[in-house]
Formats: sequence, C-alpha cells, structure tokens
Amino acid sequence: MWKCVKCGESHEMQFDTCWQCGTTRVGKEDPKRAADYAKQKAMEADLATLNERAAKIFISTGPIREPFQVVDVVFAVDSQDQGMFAELLSVAIGFHVGANPSKAFDKVKLQLKSQCLDLRGDAVINCQFEHRVAIANSPIPGRGGKQTVEIFAYGTVVKIIKAST
Ligand SMILES: [Zn+2]
Repeated sequence: MWKCVKCGESHEMQFDTCWQCGTTRVGKEDPKRAADYAKQKAMEADLATLNERAAKIFISTGPIREPFQVVDVVFAVDSQDQGMFAELLSVAIGFHVGANPSKAFDKVKLQLKSQCLDLRGDAVINCQFEHRVAIANSPIPGRGGKQTVEIFAYGTVVKIIKAST
C-alpha cells in the first residue's frame, strides 16, 4: 500500500497514480487533475456550509404563528433524470421506472432556503410545489423513453419580528 501525499488516499501497489487527484506515487502532481480536485473539494465545502446554514431556515407550505414582515417572493426549479439504470430497465421491461422526485424536491427546498439566506430572512412560508414529468421518445417504438421530473416551487421569504421585552 502507498498513501497519496496530496490527498491522503490509500492505494494498492499496482496503481501508479491516485484516482482521486492524479498525483503519482512519488508525489508528482498532474496540474489539470490537481486543479479539478481542488475545485471539487471547494464545491463540497461550499455545499456543506450552505446545508449547515440552511438547516436554520424554516420552510412551510402554510403560514406561521409568529408576527412577521414579508421580505420577498422567491422561485426555484430543479430537475432530476431517472438515471441510467432506471432508463435501461424501463426500455427492457417496456414501461417507466420512475425518476426519483425526492432528490429534486430536496434541491428545490435547498434553493428556496439559500435565497432566504441571501435575503436575510428567517423562514419561507406559504410555499407551493408543482411538478412536471417529461418523457423523451425511446429509440425503440412502443417502449418507454428517458424520464425527467421537474419540480417548481415558490414561497414567501419572511423576517420574524421578535417581541421586544
Ligand atoms: Zn490523491
């Protein structure tokens, strides 16, 4: 076993370069792969920070009890393909194996929360979610094509008015 000097990943001796960051066993970096790896790491860190901050934002399809001030109305959209496996399976069995809408739903909620954070709001209320399923034509007649679920959402960003004591 050898350990990559750049990213710390462990590798079997038959491999000469790190699959993760492209650095060789002796520590020679591949500039392109190293840059991609740095970009990937930065994106993961940003997403983790966003998720952490978004966890504090309350999101609801209804109103809230606390007195609030309306900040703005926000809109978000996201789509999720059914993925290669479900697509192949759909073609094989002749009907649709659904795309997973919960992934798109989570991403739409995160978008609403992120916009709420940008507007310095505390909650997104009266949210409406709508979805649309698009099915592409299959190259095989009579068989199911690739399915995509699109989720749209809008909501009202509010700032909760804290009672002064
Ligand atoms: Zn590495």
